[in-house]
Amino acid sequence: SVPLGYFGGIGAASRNGILFKGGNFLNAITHINAIAFDKTGTLTTGSFEVISVAHEGITQEQLLYFISSVEQKSNHPIAQAIVHYAKKQGIEISNENSIHELSGLGIEAEINEKKILVGNARLMKKYQINLPQEIQNCTSTIVLCAVNEKYVGHLLLSDTLKNDACKAIKNIRKLGISDIRLLSGDKKEIVNNFASQLGIDKAFGDLLPEDKVHYLEQMTTEPNKSVAFVGDGMNDAPVLALSDVGIAMGGLGSDAAIETADVVIQTDQPSKVATAISIGHATKRIIM
Ligand code: ADP
Ligand code: MG
Repeated sequence: SVPLGYFGGIGAASRNGILFKGGNFLNAITHINAIAFDKTGTLTTGSFEVISVAHEGITQEQLLYFISSVEQKSNHPIAQAIVHYAKKQGIEISNENSIHELSGLGIEAEINEKKILVGNARLMKKYQINLPQEIQNCTSTIVLCAVNEKYVGHLLLSDTLKNDACKAIKNIRKLGISDIRLLSGDKKEIVNNFASQLGIDKAFGDLLPEDKVHYLEQMTTEPNKSVAFVGDGMNDAPVLALSDVGIAMGGLGSDAAIETADVVIQTDQPSKVATAISIGHATKRIIM
């Protein structure tokens, strides 16, 4: 049976906007000695902004029409930013298409009998689309578009760190947890850039959702590691389930993540991860 003190701990957490799915996780979280963070929507706001548009062989309006018509069917943070931008530009978005979303890559779709691809360089590589040289080494998030297997342009987007993202990492270090890692499906260069702003030295980009699962599998089997994964849930449910303590950011997080997680942070503040650990320790002191 669960010691009574845990109820107090769950109450204290809940007053801080932290939902523990059970008293056992208040105990488990005190044993965590490594934390892996997702990037987009977890440590960054996930509210992207389109910063530039490049088109080739079609007009800018046509490019935005194809991309936004496809993205309006997705609820990825990148998709929402693009649809918002296209609407602001007065683009008539089509609703007549069906899409197939490839997680960690982008989307394939058909519009007016044209085959449309919208996504990252990995998606374009998968379909052997030739890309202009200058695209290879850009350091912002890029969404490329191909129509009938031909590159027709791209958008560059920027994302920013959440206000308390740096504090989140600092407070975790203060609790004596030094193994902090950043995992992301975004490009390596972008992930490294955010990691250095955050003071995280172990950063891994270009990870497909299944790569994240393998990574977490390995990490949890490292000797004497007890691992928490913190994610916003876009494609993160399997990793949340694998970690010793799965923590979902509930502010923007998906239902699947909130369902799978052991701990849900109901505000949009990653610094609450350290708060949750502290409450675990305080509860233990009362019980012991
Ligand atoms: P993260 O691991 O940073 O949370 P995701 O796994 O959600 O990122 O996505 C990884 C990458 O896949 C994105 O950076 C983007 O390049 C691409 N991607 C995923 N979904 C979409 C989409 N709907 N439109 C365009 N690109 C997408
Ligand atoms: Mg994410």
